[in-house]
Amino acid sequence: MPVKKLWKTCYELSRGHHLVYVFSLLSQILMVFCSVFSTFLIKVLLDTLGGLDELLSAPFFEQWVITILTQGRGPGYLIANQIYILPVAVVSFGAMTAIASFLRMSLRSYAASAINCSMQLTVFFHLESVSYPYFKKAKGGDLIQTCTRDLDVIRKFMIADLSNFNYTIWMVLFCFLFLLGLSWELTLVSMALFPVMFIYSFLLIKEVRKRYRKTDDSEARMTDRIQENIGAVRLVKAFNSEKREVENFENYLSDFRKNFISWRKMSSFFFASTDILVFGAKLISLIYGIYLASQGIINPGTLVVSFLFVNMMVWPIRDTAMSLSNLGQYLASIDRIRLILDEPLEDLESGLTPSISGHVVFNDVSFHFPDGDKDAISHVSFEVKAGQTVAIMGKTGAGKSTLALLLTRLYETDSGSIKIDDYDIKTIQKHHLRKNVVPILQDPFLFSKSISENILMANQKADLPQLKLATRVASIDETIANFKDGYETQVGEKGMSLSGGQKQRVAIARGLIAESPIIIFDDSLSAVDTETDLKIRRNLSTLERKLTTFIITHRVSTAKDADLIIVFEDGKVSEMGTHQELLLKPGLYKRIAEIQGRMV
Ligand code: ADP
Repeated sequence: MPVKKLWKTCYELSRGHHLVYVFSLLSQILMVFCSVFSTFLIKVLLDTLGGLDELLSAPFFEQWVITILTQGRGPGYLIANQIYILPVAVVSFGAMTAIASFLRMSLRSYAASAINCSMQLTVFFHLESVSYPYFKKAKGGDLIQTCTRDLDVIRKFMIADLSNFNYTIWMVLFCFLFLLGLSWELTLVSMALFPVMFIYSFLLIKEVRKRYRKTDDSEARMTDRIQENIGAVRLVKAFNSEKREVENFENYLSDFRKNFISWRKMSSFFFASTDILVFGAKLISLIYGIYLASQGIINPGTLVVSFLFVNMMVWPIRDTAMSLSNLGQYLASIDRIRLILDEPLEDLESGLTPSISGHVVFNDVSFHFPDGDKDAISHVSFEVKAGQTVAIMGKTGAGKSTLALLLTRLYETDSGSIKIDDYDIKTIQKHHLRKNVVPILQDPFLFSKSISENILMANQKADLPQLKLATRVASIDETIANFKDGYETQVGEKGMSLSGGQKQRVAIARGLIAESPIIIFDDSLSAVDTETDLKIRRNLSTLERKLTTFIITHRVSTAKDADLIIVFEDGKVSEMGTHQELLLKPGLYKRIAEIQGRMV
């Protein structure tokens, strides 16, 4: 049931703030009641001015009101004291309306900000806690849209539209009940146009929205065009394309203008025609009310107050029809939000937490990606002793990086086993495993923070000497020292831009400071020049603690000193041995070594 899903999601997203939300709706109901009741008091006032007969023939609930206002003394007492009782009552209820309105606005603002935070946090928490393969399945752009636009749609639904529904329902209900008590004929005639107005507004606003979306889309296309042209300015200039690009942009512009005019026309028509219906409903009520009054069926007090009630009902009905027509958009947004919320969270906490020295054994491991058509790695077996360095080589797509994904359990093996220090990694707690096996990726990402914050995110407890050691081993210490702000230099989007090699070395320092016994350089040394590569590897060998080091690389010069070199071809291990051993075999490694040897 889509509507049930909508409720469930709103309930989940606003967890912890339900009470304040409900109170904001209750204060709105109180506000509506007070405003309807203070309007009704105008009838009591007019009837009182009309004299005793008028009051005695008033509907039963008006009699109750008089009894309450006069504390049981009756209509005669009210007529004698109307000079103060009624104005005081009208002002008191007006003041209560104002207090309830203030209460509602305060609670609503509080609920709005609290719910907004809780929505963002709930979705962000989920995104941070789902497993890695989910991000491969879901498209990044879609996720960002869900976190921004879809959440905004639901926030508006909860804060604005639900409160509008609440307002309309109670306003129509209270006005309807009072109106019915005053004159059922007038109620029927006055409300006859309401369903027509509601359905008409509901259907027509959909067309307005459709045209608005088209305008929005063409505006987005224009923005994309501008963005692309700014990004590709060199290309445009290189091929003398300035004039063509401007002409092209004019097409986008005229498309936008066409859509914009069509949207504005439709929305003007919507507001004009629904206004006519609203005024039509009021006119019918007034004319029929005058007719009933001229026949003596209702008195002037009923005529005036009925007209006021109709006036109070019509506008919220039109607004609710407009909000309700958004239901399709709410449901679509909810579907996208549910794709995140329904994703199971990754279990990071259960499992063993043994101390790890770094002995790694792959035993007949096979794996294929959920959407892959063949095994990414197939029947892979090898052993690396604690403290050894193993180089993984092979062509692009041979399965090298998949090893790193499996070793950190971002994906689980399909068959075979991976053991670290004799523990099958599936039995080790994921948090613990990822503390002990650290990958350094080829394309390093630095957050918009300082260099030290970027490095320390791998180990919050590290002190300055540890920070300095990590940057020295990564051979980036001197570069950082030359920056004006040293370790506090801001990097990332809003900070200083580092070269690819510098970023890479900061990422290596970040990997090293984690002080894990197993480290994987996933093509990351290939991004630095050969000299720095050699320097970093030399620095690594001087470390007191011995690391089990996996180096995924294309360079023979990087691989040749490793204790073990494993060559991958098409997901399988094709060769394994030391540099000298592999040079004796007529395989891929020898061929690569010869080619790279010739290039030097
Ligand atoms: P390498 O690191 O040797 O370049 P990978 O380990 O990245 O190769 O990839 C091995 C194989 O798995 C390739 O055929 C690649 O296309 C495929 N592959 C990699 N990542 C995914 C993925 N997320 N989904 C499906 N197939 C993938």
